[in-house]
Amino acid sequence: MSEVNGQPWGYCSAFGCPLLGTRGSEGRWYCFCHVDKPSNFNDAITRELRESQMHIVDSTLDLRRHGCSFYGEDTAYRTIQQRLIGGGRRDLLMSADEKQTGGARAWLARLERALIESVADIGVQKRIPTTVQTADVDHAAPASDFFPPVARGIFDNDGAQA
Ligand SMILES: [Zn+2]
Repeated sequence: MSEVNGQPWGYCSAFGCPLLGTRGSEGRWYCFCHVDKPSNFNDAITRELRESQMHIVDSTLDLRRHGCSFYGEDTAYRTIQQRLIGGGRRDLLMSADEKQTGGARAWLARLERALIESVADIGVQKRIPTTVQTADVDHAAPASDFFPPVARGIFDNDGAQA
């Protein structure tokens, strides 16, 4: 986890992504939204997270930061609730069930699932409704396929790392 691709340590390897890198893939760490997605969709996913989902993103980060425990942390808990309400997601508040069972982990899982759903359509082939027939791009490939040095990681060594 030392190679960080310009990202702060501990964060997802997709440039600009606000989430933590919690899933390893091909020697890098990605968040649950970026992992297993074609890299050419990284920016679109990051944009969706940053522009539309930050109230959920920040809430998941807060929950992880508190280790999913709010004993003596009423303010932290209330901050998350208020943020979700502010973002119009009352449906994502900690449920009575989750409260009773101390299920902050279940709550976190639900918030993360909401984020995964928010980007689920990105990177999925869709028929584009156009009146003019356009060329299909159904074999989109990452740049590394055409430019082997990228795949070998040569630029990573020359670039950001001192
Ligand atoms: Zn990410």
